[in-house]
Amino acid sequence: MTTPKRMDSQVTGIGLLGLGVVGSAVANTITDRHRLEDPSVPLEVVAAVVRDPSRKREVSLDQSAISTDIETVIANPEVGIVVELMGGVDPAFDYITSALKAGQHVVTANKEVMAKRGIDLLATAAENSVQLLYEASVAGGIPIIGPLMNDLAANKIRSLRGIINGTTNFILTKMAHEGADFNDVLTEAQSLGYAESDPTADVDGFDAQYKIAVLARLAYHTEVPVDEIHREGIQEVHAKDFRYAKELGYTIKLLAVAQADSESGLLARVHPALIPFEVPMATVNGVLNAVEVEGDLVGPLWFQGPGAGPNPTASAVMGDVIRVTKSGSGEETTPDVPDPFLIASMDDHVCQYYLRLTASDRPGVLASVAKVLGDADISINSVLQKDTDTENGRADLVIMTHPAREANMQSAVSSIKELDTVLQLDSLLRVETYSDRS
Ligand code: NAP
Repeated sequence: MTTPKRMDSQVTGIGLLGLGVVGSAVANTITDRHRLEDPSVPLEVVAAVVRDPSRKREVSLDQSAISTDIETVIANPEVGIVVELMGGVDPAFDYITSALKAGQHVVTANKEVMAKRGIDLLATAAENSVQLLYEASVAGGIPIIGPLMNDLAANKIRSLRGIINGTTNFILTKMAHEGADFNDVLTEAQSLGYAESDPTADVDGFDAQYKIAVLARLAYHTEVPVDEIHREGIQEVHAKDFRYAKELGYTIKLLAVAQADSESGLLARVHPALIPFEVPMATVNGVLNAVEVEGDLVGPLWFQGPGAGPNPTASAVMGDVIRVTKSGSGEETTPDVPDPFLIASMDDHVCQYYLRLTASDRPGVLASVAKVLGDADISINSVLQKDTDTENGRADLVIMTHPAREANMQSAVSSIKELDTVLQLDSLLRVETYSDRS
C-alpha cells in the first residue's frame, strides 16, 4: 500500500495522459476555471504525455510540460491525480496500473480498458487506497456511473437499457427520417466528424458492448466478460426496414441492454432493435445518448444528454477530478465485486422478431415459411407483403412473430434460408419488450 500523493497540500497537481479531443478540453477547463487563484478548487496541470509533442494543439499549456515520457507523470511528486485520456488498452492499462501503484488517484474516460481490465484496475486501486473514477467512460456528459455507484446503491437493478453510441444513433436517425441507405449516411457522418474514418468500433457495436459491460458490472456487482455480451452492429439494417417497421408502429435503434433476475441470470446484449414509437427511447435522435434504469425501489429513471464531444466529456472528467479532491481516500467509491449472478445465454432470450424476406411471388410461400416457424415453436403475429415485382416474380415478405426463444429462431432462420421459395433472408431484427405495454 502506498501513501496517496499531493492530496493534502493546497493545490492538486494533475498529470494528463493524452491531449487530444477530450484531453485538450480538460486542460483548458482546468486553466480557465480552476486556476490557482480560484480558491474553491485549486488544480494545476503539471505534466502531459502524448504521442507527438510537436503536434499543434489548441491548449493553453506550457510546451515544456508536454512530452512522450510517462515518468514525467508517474514519477512526479507534484501529480496527485492522473487523468487518462489516451484510449485503448495498450499502453493505457499499464500506465493506469503504474499510477495507482505510485499512490496517484486516476480518472479515466476509457471504456475499453474499463470493460476489459476494469476488475484488475479497481482491485489495484483498492490495494493502494486510491480512487479510480470513470464517469466519462459511458455516455459522455450524462452522469450514469455515479448514480449507479452511489445514489441507486440500495436498489436491485431490474434493467438497464440505453442508446449509448452517438455515431450509430446519428446514422439510424438519418436513415429513419430521410429514407437514406446506411453507406450514404455513414459517409455524411464521417464528413461531419460524427464517425471515425475507420467506423468499425461504432457501427459493429464494439463501443456499445464495452459501455454496457461497464454499466452491467456496476449495476449487478458481477464481472461481465466482454466476449460474453451478444453483439450485432447496424450494417445489416436497410432503409426498407425503417419503412416497414414504421407501418407496424416501430422505429429502429441500436440498443445496449443488461437485465438480470435470480432465476435466469444476467443477460447483456447489443443489437439493433425495433422500439415502439410511444416509448421515450424512440424519440432519442441524432448523436444524443439515453439510458433507462429500472430499480426495484426507485422505479424507472431516465437519463438523456450528449454522449460525446469535448466539453460534455470534460464535464464528466472534471466532476470525477473534483470528487477526488473533495473526498481524499478512495475506499467509498471503489466497489467490491461479489458474484451473485450467472451470465445467461443469448440462446434463452425471448422476444418478438421482425423478419424480412425476398420471396417468390407465388402461392404457398407464406405457408412454407409458417410451417418452418411452427416446427420451431414460433407463431406469426402479422404479415405484410410489399414491393411486389411481378415482372421478376418476387416480393418482400415481412413477418412479425409472437415472442419466441432466440435459439428456436436461429434454427428456423437456417431452415428458411434453405426453402426454394425464399430467394433471400434480408433482415432479422429483435423487437424490444416493454413490460408496461399491453
Ligand atoms: P484522441 O483525440 O485520439 O486523443 C488521444 C490522445 O492520446 C492524443 O493526445 C494522443 O497523442 C494520445 N495518445 C494516444 N496513444 C498514446 C500513447 N501510446 N502514448 C502517449 N500518448 C498517446 O482521443 P479522444 O477523443 O480525446 O478520446 C480520449 C478517451 O476519451 C478515449 O478513451 C475515448 O474513448 C474517451 N472518450 C472520448 C469522447 C469523445 O467525445 N471524443 C467521449 C467519451 C469518451 P497525440 O495527440 O500526440 O496523437
